Amino acid sequence: MVEREWIERAIELADLDAIRMTLYQLTGDPRFDLPVAGQMSAEQKNFLKDEAVEWLIANAGPRDVPTPSEDEHRRLFNMALGKEEGDLEYNARKELTCFGDFPYYERWQGDAPKMPEGFRVAVIGSGFAGIGMGVQLDLLGIPYDVFERRPEPGGVWSINRYPDVRVDTISITYEFLFERDHQWSEYFARGSEVRSYLDYVSRKYGVHDKTRFAHDLKSAAFDESRNVWRLEFDTPDGPLIHEANVIVSASGLFATPNIPHFEGQDQFAGRIIHPSRWPDDVDLAGKRVAVIGNGSTGIQMLGAIAQQAVFTYAFQRTPQWISPRAKYGEAIEPETAWLLKNFPAYVNWWRLSALAGLFDTHQLMQTDLEWQASGGKVNRASDAMREELTQYIRQQTGGREDLIARLIPDYAPFSRRPVVDNGWYRTLTRDNVELVTEGIVSLTEKGILTADGKEHTVDVIVTATGFAVEKYLWPARYTGRNGVDLHDLWDQGDGARAYLGMMVPDFPNLFTLYGPNSQPLSGGPSQPVWFGMWGAYAARAIMRMLSENKATVEVTPEAFTRYNKALDEEAAKLVQMTVEGGIDKNYYVSQRHNRLQVNAPWYAPHYQDMCMNTRWDDLVLDGSLSESADAEASTVG
Ligand code: NAP
Repeated sequence: MVEREWIERAIELADLDAIRMTLYQLTGDPRFDLPVAGQMSAEQKNFLKDEAVEWLIANAGPRDVPTPSEDEHRRLFNMALGKEEGDLEYNARKELTCFGDFPYYERWQGDAPKMPEGFRVAVIGSGFAGIGMGVQLDLLGIPYDVFERRPEPGGVWSINRYPDVRVDTISITYEFLFERDHQWSEYFARGSEVRSYLDYVSRKYGVHDKTRFAHDLKSAAFDESRNVWRLEFDTPDGPLIHEANVIVSASGLFATPNIPHFEGQDQFAGRIIHPSRWPDDVDLAGKRVAVIGNGSTGIQMLGAIAQQAVFTYAFQRTPQWISPRAKYGEAIEPETAWLLKNFPAYVNWWRLSALAGLFDTHQLMQTDLEWQASGGKVNRASDAMREELTQYIRQQTGGREDLIARLIPDYAPFSRRPVVDNGWYRTLTRDNVELVTEGIVSLTEKGILTADGKEHTVDVIVTATGFAVEKYLWPARYTGRNGVDLHDLWDQGDGARAYLGMMVPDFPNLFTLYGPNSQPLSGGPSQPVWFGMWGAYAARAIMRMLSENKATVEVTPEAFTRYNKALDEEAAKLVQMTVEGGIDKNYYVSQRHNRLQVNAPWYAPHYQDMCMNTRWDDLVLDGSLSESADAEASTVG
């Protein structure tokens, strides 16, 4: 039994909205039907905390909470958010409270159909998306194999081992909803902890046993005469041919590093490191280091590097809007860990509360013409955020005008991927750190030459220059019907396009998770939830193949064209596609094709609705599965 003081501390550290909802759900006491925390009076807050302490003293302990009925859940959900959610929003978000077993996942309604002999799915990649897909297929009893080029699961969390790599959304929102309430040690988990979690999930759900590591996909060709995909892998034992009825690619958006080539690079006597290739043996102590890039990676690592290196240059090409996160870098207190275990349903409501702050971000990206006509930049909320973040820059840099002038972006916040501050601004004020904003002209033997003629002497250059995000499904070659090469097709058009980010006509039985134009811009659900939704979409199509004995499932050309036209129209409404939104500075906008290429422009619940509720008229299922040739097991060729 813990002491009262312990419980009081736990409650003091806790999320007030989650306390309110938990107490209300557990007791049904109308006195807890209070406004959201932001609108509570001090008296109401104290009342809530006191009651929570008393409840815990009397009742604390792990316990299952009955799943609320649909009506009751909706009432609780609205109460949690302090407003009536519309049907679109509610249906998209209701499973985030996690009162069910496998939120957002598909299951057979009734008996599963008999699995045809030899039917199998090939999942490419064993990061979050691939592991989640394996769990989904397992749940349905659909045979599958996962192919992973690395020696372990984890995807980006296996690849990225640079200093201070960690998640930038709160840990309890960055986990599979079917394997939740992991005992994270920090509010924003470190990369190694996420890696261990993924390894744990992969083993626990049997995905690991079905994963072939060190299998690097080279090509995949659809055999139209047999309706199977023929995949070729490089393996340590030589090339391997494998056949599958369906491919789900979970190879990720951040798989191909963007390695810049600077003039004079060969002369540089020091070491050049891309963060996704961070070597085990690098010791920065006593070294002079340059970090090129201020995306999420460059921002995350600078502080840790500056603490080790004797001197660090931070090279910034374009200023970013960088925002703080409460408890970033902090350990989860033992009292909080205790509360999570002993206050039933608290974590369910905390997760929702932690995500809810992002539910309305879409409005930040909509230009308000009236507002602009009256002198505003984008819209009221966007301009207010700009002001707030500008003040943050001023405050973090201690009023250093020489820095401030170069750090404030000239485009609207939220028009690029939000970046979380890991003490980056403060680090810039250290004596052993210098911000460099002059363009890089070339590398020299000793370092980096900038446009102002200065040579910056360094031993190590870290190119935190991101990833070739437009290279979907790269470098494997995919050949669909009539010998069409997917990358040629995309190159001949205006870059990578897909239907819902997942399907392309003439490439039957191929689904891409996190494909073209699928990165959500806004809306709340964190990335693992999206992986689950996309995986469930692919699963529904496979389920229909099986239940209707169809050999292929494919998006129609009409649906593909209609979807992409609507997508472009939706993108055109976004501030990111305007000068005010920094269109020319956005690496998620294809500069070559002048169009949004990585992000899904949709209001998130709308995109969720399209992913969660298959428009069957947009797809065509064809051929007889039982009359198609069985996929052949792997052969080493
Ligand atoms: P990024 O966001 O693409 O940023 C790349 C940076 O390198 C930008 O500052 C870019 O400048 C600069 N750059 C690129 N080429 C350059 C060149 N030739 N010369 C000078 N500067 C150059 O890449 P990232 O930081 O690796 O992030 C990629 C994605 O990974 C993020 O969007 C995020 O989704 C994810 N991520 C997440 C976390 C997390 O905490 N969960 C951490 C790291 C990364 P410009 O802006 O001028 O193009």
